[in-house]
Amino acid sequence: MVKCSGCSEDAVINVTSPYCKGHFIKYFEAKVAETIKGYKLISKNDKTIIACSGGKDSTTVLYLLNKWFGNVTALAIDEGIPGYRNVTLEDLRNFCSRNRIPLKVVSYKDAFGFSLHEALRKVKVLPCNICGTLRRHLLNTGARGFTKIATGHNLDDEAQSIMMNFFKGNFEIAARLGPLTGIASDSKFTPRVKPLYFCHEKEVAAYAFLMSFGIRFNECPHSRVSFRAAVRDFLNRLEQQKPGSKQNVVENFLKLLPLLKKKHSGSAVMRHCESCGEPSSNEVCKACSYVASLRSVAAPVAKF
Ligand SMILES: [Zn+2]
Ligand SMILES: [Zn+2]
Repeated sequence: MVKCSGCSEDAVINVTSPYCKGHFIKYFEAKVAETIKGYKLISKNDKTIIACSGGKDSTTVLYLLNKWFGNVTALAIDEGIPGYRNVTLEDLRNFCSRNRIPLKVVSYKDAFGFSLHEALRKVKVLPCNICGTLRRHLLNTGARGFTKIATGHNLDDEAQSIMMNFFKGNFEIAARLGPLTGIASDSKFTPRVKPLYFCHEKEVAAYAFLMSFGIRFNECPHSRVSFRAAVRDFLNRLEQQKPGSKQNVVENFLKLLPLLKKKHSGSAVMRHCESCGEPSSNEVCKACSYVASLRSVAAPVAKF
């Protein structure tokens, strides 16, 4: 049995170093606290809303920010994915009521008139493409009045996003990654922060498990068909062959990021969508054009 690197107890987790339960929790929380401090992600004066899915990552962020800063709100988007989202929302509701955290739930059905499930029954599109756009839209409008949106993105997610954008040649989009994003001058855009930026997914899973958050470890049924899943599997194989690969991707990307930001700053002129008024680089934002095309086929036909 491998021993903890901080004491003589048996280790329960060994991602970067072996730790017992107590030392792992200390190590993990210190890493998140250092990320928040080092990148000035959140200050005491911030009014923070946490984008929550009811999964391990966002619940960990919600727990830690509530513990350290208090005065936090949880924001959940209900896309309408039967058998998945209703389960994670139930876990989130229970977690929030146990910890006395206000929870705001915004659904596709209320906002757009159709659920993701209804839309997918009518049109053949990759669900993650719709969700990427529509979720972002609802997070942005749902976070109005708050000064920061915190998300549960971990090191694995970020390494995937970096590689996906590199594979697609989307350097302009890659320039929008990093632990703190969206410091645009637009008052309608709330900056996003990622407190778990340097935490491996396995570490977050272990932390959420050891802390007994009372959440079930579910995966979105659509995630397996995405390009992200292919990149995730590729990076996982690489990590096995060469441990430290994911961390290297993220750390080296951070060295490149100032150059990418410099090159792409100001290249996208911020306008406002003619339909919803949200920040957009086109006349009509991507969310509104998606909704218009989906509504025409997905919504029940109105009877007159
Ligand atoms: Zn120990
Ligand atoms: Zn719009």
